[in-house]
Amino acid sequence: MEIIDQKSLIENPSLTKKVNLKGMTIDELEDFFLEIGEHKYRSEQIFHWMYNKLSVSFFEMENFSKELRNKLNGICEIKGLEYVDSKVSEESGTKKYIFKTSDDLKIESVLIPEESRKTLCISTQVGCPLDCKFCATGLMGYKKNLTPGEIIDQYLLVAKDVGKDYVTNIVYMGMGEPLLNYHNTLKSLEILASSLTKGISLKKVTVSTAGIAPKIIALADSGLKPKLALSLHSCFDEIRSLIMPINNKYPIHENVKAIRHYAKNTGTRITFEYVMFKDINDRDVDIKELVKLCKEIPSKVNIIPFNSLKHMSPKGFSAKLQPTPRERIDDFVKKLLDKNITVTVRYTQGTDIAAACGQLAIKYK
Ligand code: SAH
Repeated sequence: MEIIDQKSLIENPSLTKKVNLKGMTIDELEDFFLEIGEHKYRSEQIFHWMYNKLSVSFFEMENFSKELRNKLNGICEIKGLEYVDSKVSEESGTKKYIFKTSDDLKIESVLIPEESRKTLCISTQVGCPLDCKFCATGLMGYKKNLTPGEIIDQYLLVAKDVGKDYVTNIVYMGMGEPLLNYHNTLKSLEILASSLTKGISLKKVTVSTAGIAPKIIALADSGLKPKLALSLHSCFDEIRSLIMPINNKYPIHENVKAIRHYAKNTGTRITFEYVMFKDINDRDVDIKELVKLCKEIPSKVNIIPFNSLKHMSPKGFSAKLQPTPRERIDDFVKKLLDKNITVTVRYTQGTDIAAACGQLAIKYK
């Protein structure tokens, strides 16, 4: 934690930047309160105000004395994202939120209401450096890592909008690669996992990765146990590298080793995400390899129809990618089921407002 010279902050708050408490874990809050000469138990109280009562002002914290509220207001702040806009898909009820960071960059989060659960899809970066050929976020390029406060604030602001108990699941599947912003992603998970946080348990949280093998291992060893999804899309390195350049750095066998460790260490099942591209990864030989892999790792497969990138005017290889037709997807799924593989198909949600998987992108001039 970076707390720059607390003493001079207290003596002359106007001179120095305020310390942002949003995004701090309980341990960091404890350190902070001790450093400013306050009792440690204040950290639990502020944790409740920020993450359970969704408060952003010290002046509504009625269990703090007026003196303490003024002191806190002078030296620190509770600052995250700013709400910009939201749109609801008429097709599916999916709601896309646009938020703004303090450095004036926009990000998107998507709330997907289904009968059995209400899933919030959150972003971890503004843009993405990975350049996957089928993903709109990749096409917009990379701007920055979100801070822990900005990651968690997507949940807090949506909870404020729809009610804290409404959101039942969180997926780290919005803009960006969570494991390339490992430290901040981990902190946001720690906040969600804290016994002090009401509502969501990490059993209902999924981190999705394009496959950053060493960070998968680090997450497996972190003690936190979110569910893990690997964006697989092909069991062949030649094909996977073509659509996901990161595969050149971390090829399939390295990621398989890492997820095996993840499944073993956390006792969870891995989800293989599989976006279907016509004639690229929807052949019989693809089914054969996928079945082989699923037999090796405690896992399930999530088939995702390819959502169009037309709104991004793709060029080169991206422009050539076509969705697998519905009948062939059904056939692919049936053949997996015949081999006793657990499969779900994520039929498209919110394409009319560009809120479906891989369609998230902010257009910058
Ligand atoms: N970087 C992470 C999380 C963001 S992508 C990852 O790669 O997993 C979330 C999911 O959406 C991934 O499985 C990704 O492969 C999928 N996706 C990306 N673009 C898509 C598109 N155009 N159509 C359907 N799914 C897409």
